[in-house]
Amino acid sequence: MGPLQIKELLKASPEQQSVTVKGWVRTKRESKNAIFIALNDGSTIHNIQAVAEPGQFSAELLLTVTTGACLNITGQLVESQGSGQAVEVKIQDIHVYGAADPEVYPLQPKRHSLEFLREIAHLRPRTNTFSAILRIRHTLAFAVHKYYNDKGFFYLHTPVITASDAEGAGEMFRVTTLDLNKLPRTEEGDINFKEDFFGREANLTVSGQLEGELGAMALSKIYTFGPTFRAENSNTTRHLAEFWMIEPEMAFFELKDNMDLAEDFVKTVISYAMENCKDDLEFLQNRLAEEEKNKPQNERSQPLLEKLSFVVDNPFERLTYTEAIEILLKSKPHKEKKFQYPVGWGIDLSSEHERYLVEKHFKKPVILTNYPREIKSFYMKLDEDGKTVRAMDVLFPGIGEIIGGSQREEDYDKLLQRVHEVGIDPQNLWWYLETRKFGTAPHSGFGLGFERLVLFVTGMSNIRDVIPFPRYPKSAEF
Ligand code: ATP
Ligand code: MN
Repeated sequence: MGPLQIKELLKASPEQQSVTVKGWVRTKRESKNAIFIALNDGSTIHNIQAVAEPGQFSAELLLTVTTGACLNITGQLVESQGSGQAVEVKIQDIHVYGAADPEVYPLQPKRHSLEFLREIAHLRPRTNTFSAILRIRHTLAFAVHKYYNDKGFFYLHTPVITASDAEGAGEMFRVTTLDLNKLPRTEEGDINFKEDFFGREANLTVSGQLEGELGAMALSKIYTFGPTFRAENSNTTRHLAEFWMIEPEMAFFELKDNMDLAEDFVKTVISYAMENCKDDLEFLQNRLAEEEKNKPQNERSQPLLEKLSFVVDNPFERLTYTEAIEILLKSKPHKEKKFQYPVGWGIDLSSEHERYLVEKHFKKPVILTNYPREIKSFYMKLDEDGKTVRAMDVLFPGIGEIIGGSQREEDYDKLLQRVHEVGIDPQNLWWYLETRKFGTAPHSGFGLGFERLVLFVTGMSNIRDVIPFPRYPKSAEF
């Protein structure tokens, strides 16, 4: 089943056994007495050192062994002479699968800027930083499935193509097979979508929630974990046009159960990554420290692992939107007019407000609840006062909103009234509304943006750097 991974080889005991190592050259160093090749196959942040004697191989062959080249090395696994590693490979034979001409190969063993690496997204997984991020991303995804499986949830696959334009109108990517140069028209002159593939307008989904709720009304506890798409033209460090979302949906859960689940869930998956990605997290922690070396002491951020432990070990602060507004109104930046956007009951909190609460006021993750109904979605359960809804947003340091969720309105009449109020045609949502007609139940759910979680865990600062091939305005190259 393929060669032994470098990760396994590095743990093996060196008994002069013959081994085969395949991977990409990170560095080659020649000294008087030996040639050292650091090889990496992506299984771990650590390289395996392979050593040859001077003169053992032709100069012609050695010229092709440069950073980026792919090699198949056979040799013996021996105790390492040098410090820094326990074992190394005493080379018997080198086969070069593919050279990488150093004149043109863009990844050289030096620090490249993240902006530059985004332009070579096809190669950046070969850097230490990106391979570490990708391994952590994998581990977190695995932890998500494990968490819900362990808790008795079922993984529900909700559609990627949707015809319900209820949510996120204007932010959706259209899906069509119509010939854009020869659009069929109705008698009134509008585009005739009856002739389109689905016989109606279709888009890429912005959320699996509505279908997720249908699943919860049968299986009780489900979750979705799939790609979602938003054509919002927000060029921020926290938004992508294509991102992955985890959306659990639970029958018989009220707002408090929903908050408890959200908190336990993020803490559990972060702990899982801390236990299973130690080396990669340490690497990223050092990378961050290196980056901040020139900052004054008091402006440096907390070491990554410390920050993660802190989140895992402390209860999140829970308060209502109304209480949060009171805190913001009394805050220094509000009084000194430092906030860009004004504060007042009814506003949609902007990220500067969220970050003030999390980073300055409470200094820990915060769950805000009971938002004004006007700024939240139609499906959220109305509170007794009729002014607020049973919403909950989880806010994280450095990120702002990481989770958005709510208890859902289970009352048919109230839901229908909200549908009318926000101007949705109930015809488009007849199937969703029917769950409230037939065997309705109190239920709740939330959505966690997977990349925002990866952003937090890796300590990276731009969401474009925690997904292999990011999609954002004017960029879909790879
Ligand atoms: P924001 O206010 O940050 O744009 P939102 O209110 O639009 O978020 P929701 O619609 O509640 O977010 O989506 C649920 C979660 O999905 C968010 O909490 C966030 O983690 C994530 N998310 C939303 N939009 C994006 C995006 N464009 N790119 C990446 N993640 C996103
Ligand atoms: Mn948004």
